[in-house]
Amino acid sequence: MSTIALSNKAAKLMKLCDAEGFNCLDDLLAAAATDSVCPAICMTEGCDYTAEMEPDQDQGYCESCGGNTVTSALVLAGLI
Ligand SMILES: [Zn+2]
Repeated sequence: MSTIALSNKAAKLMKLCDAEGFNCLDDLLAAAATDSVCPAICMTEGCDYTAEMEPDQDQGYCESCGGNTVTSALVLAGLI
């Protein structure tokens, strides 16, 4: 069992927009939907590691905190 506290999805999506330089979530999702990789962010509370992941990734490896907690924007937005 993991005891890592996960942040809520909406807050992480907004941070991911900021980190990737998008003005709003719609822009980020539009870009992600047309690419083979998708911006992804670590869901651990306090860890804002971002990476490019597969669009359906929901347990990518985080190089910052070491958890399998990196989730793509499309998954976070509920589009996959
Ligand atoms: Zn992390």
